[in-house]
Amino acid sequence: MQVVPTPPAHIGLVVIQPSRRRHCAGCRRGPLSMLVVEGRVPCCLDCADLGHLVFLPRGDTALTRRAREESTLSVVVVRFNRRKGRYERQGVLVEEAGLARAEARCLADAEARRRRRVRDARRRAVQDARFAEAFAAEILRLFPGCPRDRADGIAAHASARGSGRVGRGAAGRALSEGAVVSAVVASVRHLDTSYDALLMGGVPRREARRRIAVGVETVLREWGWEADIGAGR
Ligand SMILES: [Zn+2]
Repeated sequence: MQVVPTPPAHIGLVVIQPSRRRHCAGCRRGPLSMLVVEGRVPCCLDCADLGHLVFLPRGDTALTRRAREESTLSVVVVRFNRRKGRYERQGVLVEEAGLARAEARCLADAEARRRRRVRDARRRAVQDARFAEAFAAEILRLFPGCPRDRADGIAAHASARGSGRVGRGAAGRALSEGAVVSAVVASVRHLDTSYDALLMGGVPRREARRRIAVGVETVLREWGWEADIGAGR
């Protein structure tokens, strides 16, 4: 009679993946890939009336939880880890119909999540568009001579960096006069002066800004900016 080490009783009804070759004490079939221990001897799943169950490997916790909920009978499958000296969960045996229902529920969830992502993206796009519109209007209020497409470009860039994604408060702060002027100055620096070329040529940022300051100011005056422009900008 082949004696199998019995897993701790607190695990309850449990199926074992044996590490050694075992045959069913009832029908002699084997070697068995899974067995239960009955009276300290191995018993195949068919003899243990568990043959109708299907094995669901561990890994997908949501699917496992639902498959067990959907199955009248479910059994944990363990394997003895010699090195760690304990039984480790390998998966569960569940009813095939229960597993199918669990899979359907998980799929429905995935579909719901996908639809929510689409809705969120659409809402953010609308918020971004509104923010960009408001930002462009503010640019044109402060810089009436700024070409419309430049204002739109600067606003689109600003909205891509924040806006709807960071909430109303942050969007409001981003629309402050200081933020709008900074965005316009940055755009002029990069597109209307040799700033980027200077930086590429190794000119330190502070020195590069000093060299282009007049050029930036000229463009801003052309665009109708009347207030004082700090040298640091
Ligand atoms: Zn058997």
